[in-house]
Amino acid sequence: MSLSSPRKPVILTGDRTTGPLHLGHYVGSLKSRVALQASHEQFLLLADTQALTDNADDPAKVQRNVLEVAFDYLAVGIGPDVTTICVQSALPALAELTMLYMNFVTVARLERNPTIKTEIIHRGFERDVPAGFLCYPVSQAADITGFKATLVPVGEDQAPLIEQTNEIVRRVNRQIGRDLLPEAVAMIPKVGRLPGIDGKAKMSKSLGNAIPLSASADDIRAAVRRMYTDPNHLRAADPGTVEGNVVFTYLDAFSDDFAGVADLKARYRRGGLGDTVVKRQLEDVLQALLAPIRERRARFAADPGFVLQKLRQGTAKARARTEETLGEVRDALGLFRFEEAAA
Ligand code: ATP
Ligand code: MG
Repeated sequence: MSLSSPRKPVILTGDRTTGPLHLGHYVGSLKSRVALQASHEQFLLLADTQALTDNADDPAKVQRNVLEVAFDYLAVGIGPDVTTICVQSALPALAELTMLYMNFVTVARLERNPTIKTEIIHRGFERDVPAGFLCYPVSQAADITGFKATLVPVGEDQAPLIEQTNEIVRRVNRQIGRDLLPEAVAMIPKVGRLPGIDGKAKMSKSLGNAIPLSASADDIRAAVRRMYTDPNHLRAADPGTVEGNVVFTYLDAFSDDFAGVADLKARYRRGGLGDTVVKRQLEDVLQALLAPIRERRARFAADPGFVLQKLRQGTAKARARTEETLGEVRDALGLFRFEEAAA
């Protein structure tokens, strides 16, 4: 790169290392990351610290999944020399930024966050929410600003969290009297939220309703068979409903044959088309999508040394970048400095 060429805009996204990635991640975020990696400077965060906020009783799971999620990244086409993949818990500057930003947000504001509210219900925390969980939007603000990212490709559930980040950015910038931290834009794709195979609002690792990217051909077949359709469509001859029918939602999300899907929908609505036929179509689409991903994943999983080396390099680069930002924020906020005190 020549000195005069402008720096590429920075992307930061990541995934909690709570389990293997699934089709929801693929449509919600991974596809955009692969598409944008050449035109942006992209950092991917293996968010193991954030995963602990609701998994403190099972740190082994969180640790084990660091490599699993990295395999998923490489399997879908993230290039480890184009995109920087890094491990959150090995970036202490992010923890320190979180601590500083905690003073620029209120508990009431965190409790009002719609994503947090829903997740608290799903996890059955009620009043016993770990403080770390309530505050994870602050740590996300640290992640995004630590890299000075301006673009965050994420699923729909993340929109309120990016808004929270930008509120913190504005408050910090106002305090220090200049725009040190950039605001970020959430990039949400057409299918911003893929439902689970059970028809629940979101496919999620924690809800047990996911098809992992690493699923075997048999697992895919079994998951499609179990999939929620129209509960009132009891006989093939009956007219069926397409809206809220997960099989059609997935066909819309994953099939390139738009005319074919439109035709299936029309026949289903009219009556005379059984669930089994539609499911078979979807199964073909998913098998074709996931077979090459599964094969590439197996190759990387057979060479964890290579993947670890890429994570080590990526984390070293990320450490330098986040420490630079932390230094600027500390100085701007006027934290104690021995050099100045001694002068
Ligand atoms: P967990 O249940 O542990 O929270 P998760 O399945 O929700 O896991 P995250 O690691 O929290 O996954 O999310 C990582 C990224 O993937 C986020 O950008 C999120 O918006 C996106 N994502 C996750 N699930 C879906 C989904 N079902 N549809 C669209 N995007 C999704
Ligand atoms: Mg989540």
